[in-house]
Amino acid sequence: MTKEVSFIDLGLSEDILNALNDLGFSKPSPIQSECIPLLLEGNDVLGMAQTGSGKTAAFSIPFLMNIDASLKAPQLLVLAPTRELAMQVADACSEYSKYMKGIKVLALYGGQRYDVQLRALKQGPQIVVGTPGRLLDHLNRKTLDLSNLKGLVLDEADEMLRMGFIDDVESIMATIPENHQTALFSATMPAPIRRITKRFMHNPKEVQIKGTNQTAPDIDQSYWLVRGMRKNEAIVRFLEAEDFDAAIIFVRTKSATLDVAEVLEKHGYSCAALNGDMTQQLREQTLDRLRNGRLDILIATDVAARGLDVERISLVINYDITLDSESYVHRIGRTGRAGRAGRAILFVDSRERRLLKNIEHTIKKPIPEVGLPSKELLEKRRLAKFTEQVQKQLESSDLDQYQNLLAKIQADSGAGLETIATALLKLAQGERPLILPPDPVFKPSRDTRDRDNRSGERRLRGDNRETPKRRERRDVGDMDMYRIELGKENGVEVRHIVGAIANEADISSRYIGNIKLYDTYSTVELPKGMPKDMLKHFEKVRVLNQPMKMSLVNGTMSESKRNRKGSKSDTSDKGFAKKRGRPSAPKF
Ligand code: ADP
Ligand code: MG
Repeated sequence: MTKEVSFIDLGLSEDILNALNDLGFSKPSPIQSECIPLLLEGNDVLGMAQTGSGKTAAFSIPFLMNIDASLKAPQLLVLAPTRELAMQVADACSEYSKYMKGIKVLALYGGQRYDVQLRALKQGPQIVVGTPGRLLDHLNRKTLDLSNLKGLVLDEADEMLRMGFIDDVESIMATIPENHQTALFSATMPAPIRRITKRFMHNPKEVQIKGTNQTAPDIDQSYWLVRGMRKNEAIVRFLEAEDFDAAIIFVRTKSATLDVAEVLEKHGYSCAALNGDMTQQLREQTLDRLRNGRLDILIATDVAARGLDVERISLVINYDITLDSESYVHRIGRTGRAGRAGRAILFVDSRERRLLKNIEHTIKKPIPEVGLPSKELLEKRRLAKFTEQVQKQLESSDLDQYQNLLAKIQADSGAGLETIATALLKLAQGERPLILPPDPVFKPSRDTRDRDNRSGERRLRGDNRETPKRRERRDVGDMDMYRIELGKENGVEVRHIVGAIANEADISSRYIGNIKLYDTYSTVELPKGMPKDMLKHFEKVRVLNQPMKMSLVNGTMSESKRNRKGSKSDTSDKGFAKKRGRPSAPKF
């Protein structure tokens, strides 16, 4: 058991204490009270803790304590899996060091121009936060000098592994000078991460923070079984029934981010899509708009929203269920930030109940079912809102002017005041009628489910594997093999393929099986039973700006396939059709 400590007990400098005070951090979180002393003492640290536990401050504060502000050279290097996370860590470091004179923080990530980055590097930042690929580029070009490095941090190491960056990470670690302290943070410890800790860390002290109720944010979860109404009608009801500050809605594909955004826009919500197709700049702008309240709802894919930390988010709606339980936990972790309460609603199609079971198994508690917000509830809320507006008008100062108009209407119509008021009430309800049509009768008929399936959701079926720990390889029995018409000669690497598939289908890369590169083509294993429309989509997806033309290969089929030259084949389509009806059993 850790004893209660304060930031002062940890011996932090006045500057840092003031910054933490400004941020409203009253006491260190468990991972902070354990890691900060260990790092201050000069140990390597291996930290395991879930998202939202406060890891950023746990590593950056002790390293900040040791930074020489007069030395204009990188002294702390942080590797983060995505641009968003790199920027978040960089922002946090700037916050914590805001009273320290002469400290510069720089984020380096792919997609940003080199000349911009080179200019920033010339300014001599002491803290550099970056994504592995771009950092490696800079090291290879000798534009990043790490000879003064004191600290190296791998943040979200398992995520970097998952995204295929682990080789880059190892190359970076092998390149930089020996004598520095290393901290590695990871929610899980798969073998390749263990290997890194063995190879590159010296006698690391392990800190493991179990997700207790104390640290886990307070998130109220429930699920709705999709029936009686389509998801994009239901979502409008759920949003209207919830009191939320800002919300994030998770969908599985990029096109769904746009579809749902369109629906919500029509209903008057200030919302925006967040997906991997958007430029980095646009994504940043979108996040800023959410932070400062100009947007209230984001509709995002997992990839685009990874690690997002926006305090305002108090509601997460899982419009499409995740294929893996771990992603679900990550998603709902976008709410309940900084100890606030949060709410999470999960839409579960009747064929997805097994995925729900897997999630409940992972979070070790059942998720209660909720019904669709009823007509009565919505009417009540609308009336309450309307009454509030009426009340406001009753208190307004220029009401008198309208009294004459009322007298005129009364004279012209010959109706009583009460009748006129009622007519005005009917007139004034606007977009959201105060009286709603009766609710549909909920009968989980096959019809509604099928209709719903056709309405733009692509899903991979039959993937219920729950244990996320052994994610490197799946049983081949669970997988189908696909062929991609790009190979080594096209300059394609495994990580490019993983990236394209993970981003396009929002399949966590742990669900991507073996990838083999040949000269002119490659093969990749994906979960069995990919829907036809998804494969169709993959035919067009580009890797290194070339279409990958993915097609199904079935052992003996591969030869004839090659002769057909990647043309869309009836045979493979039939293959899917057969498989779709046969979801594989869940595995616990
Ligand atoms: P992790 O990296 O473990 O997911 P973060 O470092 O991003 O977590 O922190 C999660 C949130 O908690 C951030 O909004 C951060 O500002 C806040 N936070 C971190 N430490 C504290 C603390 N000691 N007290 C209050 N809030 C904190
Ligand atoms: Mg973090």
